[in-house]
Amino acid sequence: MTRQRLTILGATGSIGVSTLDVVDRHPDRFEIFALTGSSQLDRLAAQCRRYNPKYAVVGSLQSAQKLAELIGLNHPTEILAGLDALETVASSSEVDTVMAAIVGAAGLKPTLAAVKAGKRVLLANKEALVMAGHLFMTEIKSSGAKLLPIDSEHNAIFQSLPHAFESGLERSGVSRVLLTGSGGPFRTMPLDQLAAVTVEQACAHPNWVMGRKISVDSATMMNKGLEVIEAHWLFGARPDQIEIIVHPQSVIHSMVEYVDGSVLAQLGHPDMRTPIAHALGYPDRIESGVGSLDLFRIAQLTFEKPDLARFPCIGLAYRALEAGGTAPAILNAANEVAVAAFLDGRLPFLRIADVISAVLDEVPHVIVNVLEDVLHADSRGRDAAQRQLASWATA
Ligand code: NDP
Ligand code: MG
Repeated sequence: MTRQRLTILGATGSIGVSTLDVVDRHPDRFEIFALTGSSQLDRLAAQCRRYNPKYAVVGSLQSAQKLAELIGLNHPTEILAGLDALETVASSSEVDTVMAAIVGAAGLKPTLAAVKAGKRVLLANKEALVMAGHLFMTEIKSSGAKLLPIDSEHNAIFQSLPHAFESGLERSGVSRVLLTGSGGPFRTMPLDQLAAVTVEQACAHPNWVMGRKISVDSATMMNKGLEVIEAHWLFGARPDQIEIIVHPQSVIHSMVEYVDGSVLAQLGHPDMRTPIAHALGYPDRIESGVGSLDLFRIAQLTFEKPDLARFPCIGLAYRALEAGGTAPAILNAANEVAVAAFLDGRLPFLRIADVISAVLDEVPHVIVNVLEDVLHADSRGRDAAQRQLASWATA
């Protein structure tokens, strides 16, 4: 068997580390071509020493220098820096598969470079698709890239769709996709306590261990809102064909409802190694390190409607999806700025939705023709969000 050559964008993050854990189990199938990181240089150095990738990529020349010192002398890995280098290792003719696991808008250009180069793209970086879904799907059609969803819900939906699925649910006899979500750490917290929640509380997800940004998105349920937009682009589902179902046990990872009344679901432990192994091995099934599901111990699966008053970010995401054009990119930009401010202790938790809502009111959305339209919307959304933060700080 020829081994798949892998680039892992965001190797030092939660998804990156889980990807390497699955790769470790299959040395006959995968070899590492490139690893990228940003601030965790110690971890990236250890990964380079272990996997000997051809390239390692970091954000700046200064980080590259530091990484070289950490890796040590006479190591074969070539160290590159900057956005162009990320695009290079994502699109090189020597790479087969790209795991897109950078968090946020920073992952947009390298992920798009992998798509344009016709790679097999394992997509964890949902923000990239939220920002530029139309461009992504157009590029995939023209380049022949294969996009495999890593987000557990979209991976579950992908597994529950017919094999011959083509975007546009009706043609496959699908009536709806049912997107499950745990409801995060604040699903049942008394509303009057939400105003004072800490970063630690917001990042302590009841079921999943994830990076800090997506953990906060799960606490506001913006994560589910972003996932609605992601499902729209990946599967050609209209907003009214996507239903959010709160399922606190996180055992059913999502479902597909067919016109004959059948509902197919994918179940498993809340461990990202399952969707990662599914996509890495696809169409084969490969071992992931995740244990078997003990349904007797779980005993009960429960379902609730999402509380839209408690989680206004869901409504904001639907609003952006329905507005179309650059609105989702503006939503995403405002969310990234607001979440970063919350994580830095500069914005109270409940203000995250207020910032996003004000930015959506302020920044006009336009049609997306080219990538620059998305990048411009992203930067306008960020500027408007920073102004909102400044006005609250001085109020
Ligand atoms: P982490 O924060 O754990 O990791 C993010 C990765 O991106 C790290 O390697 C980080 O480097 C790198 N990075 C951060 N900023 C930049 C930048 N400006 N330029 C280049 N690289 C950067 O996030 P997760 O692994 O949790 O999430 C990654 C993506 O996967 C997100 O889009 C998230 O929504 C999605 N996802 C994650 C899930 C999970 O269970 N974790 C589930 C479903 C989707 P460093 O750490 O060295 O600074
Ligand atoms: Mg998810």
